[in-house]
Amino acid sequence: MKITEKVLESIKTDTIFSYGFDFRNKNFATSHRYKGFSNNMMMFIARHSNGFKTPNWIGMNQARTLGISIIKGSIGTPVLIPIIKENIDGEDIMVGSRQSTVFNLDQTDYDIESVNSNFGTGDFSKIQEIIDNYICTEGICVNVSDHNSYNPEHDVVNIVHKSNFTRESAYYEAFVHELMHSTMKDTRLGRKFDYKDEQSRIEEEVVAELATAWLFSEYNIPIDNCSQYIKGYIGDNVKLLMDCVQKSELAVNYIRRTNGTI
Ligand SMILES: [Zn+2]
Repeated sequence: MKITEKVLESIKTDTIFSYGFDFRNKNFATSHRYKGFSNNMMMFIARHSNGFKTPNWIGMNQARTLGISIIKGSIGTPVLIPIIKENIDGEDIMVGSRQSTVFNLDQTDYDIESVNSNFGTGDFSKIQEIIDNYICTEGICVNVSDHNSYNPEHDVVNIVHKSNFTRESAYYEAFVHELMHSTMKDTRLGRKFDYKDEQSRIEEEVVAELATAWLFSEYNIPIDNCSQYIKGYIGDNVKLLMDCVQKSELAVNYIRRTNGTI
């Protein structure tokens, strides 16, 4: 079964929603993060169904080069590796992808206890730095308010004062979520949004929430109830979810770019 088909089936059978979202999967040899929803979901499903303790993965040849042995009989996980070529302007562009197989570090003789893989060990100061950089670069106005929202007309983010949140994580989740909405602006990503259209509102909510999950994953911070929140909007509308996933990756990449982390 193809990777995308397997992911689509997992959405329909609810597997993805019951597992939640975790986009931290990275190659242990290169430290590069795996891009794309399908790759991350394949790896996430493999981790849950096999009880792998780490989001670190490695290819057969990479393991050999590093002197790491893959445990005999281990079944690999398929991933899509982008094929990048330089265009006439000297820019790297993706021209296709090829399938490869990777193994979780838990399927090797490597001492995984020496690799910190715990979710929830994140540091919010990094998220604060990203927020500050993004707001400053883009000239977004932030108001302390009695509610959380983004106003596209005035490019203003309203956010409740930090002291009114019961948890620090809830404050940052709300703040980053509203900032993700701000990437919709014409001068940024130009995402179409019509607040009078329910479908448009749903899509925008899912995009902002997924993009927040992408960013938090990077810093080992889980988002409470993220998958349930998204499921509430999406149901089993696979096409809508895939559309939102693509847009959310663009949104998080936009903010990463202003921070020089991409
Ligand atoms: Zn929202």
